[in-house]
Amino acid sequence: MQYFHTVFITIHEFLPFLVRVYLLYCVKSHYSIAKLTHSIPYLTDGAAELLDMIGKNFLDSLESKGLNPNRIIVTSVLRTQEDIKKLQRSGNPNAVSNSAHCYATTFDITYARFDKIKYRNFLRYESVEKAILKNVLGEVLRDLRKQNKCYVKYEVKQRCFHITTRM
Ligand SMILES: [Zn+2]
Repeated sequence: MQYFHTVFITIHEFLPFLVRVYLLYCVKSHYSIAKLTHSIPYLTDGAAELLDMIGKNFLDSLESKGLNPNRIIVTSVLRTQEDIKKLQRSGNPNAVSNSAHCYATTFDITYARFDKIKYRNFLRYESVEKAILKNVLGEVLRDLRKQNKCYVKYEVKQRCFHITTRM
């Protein structure tokens, strides 16, 4: 009896900590970040808030349409002058030195691929067509743009939405 009592107290003490870790995990999981080769992951508070909002709205929108969950993938964040030199050398036409990516207010979200959430409660999710996911992402961004939360540029060559925060 003494033993069970001790175990219960221990779990009880750790519970708030575990809940916090779980919530942190949930907040983090609204988007995923691709391996960034030409930028470093840093954003202003407003841009970070916007990114999280896009990720969350996208998941909510998929759910309301009865589509399986996918996370957006961030492909570019902050570029340093050194990164831009490297990009220019590799012949990237968008690598201008006064690029919005230099101010940590802008990031790119790809529409060519999504981070599919594979399982929930041991059930395997079916894939959603990429064209459908791209449309839903487009709707989410259009809504946020209408609310004056961001500027959105559609980039054909890099297959991404180039997003600048207004928050
Ligand atoms: Zn961009």
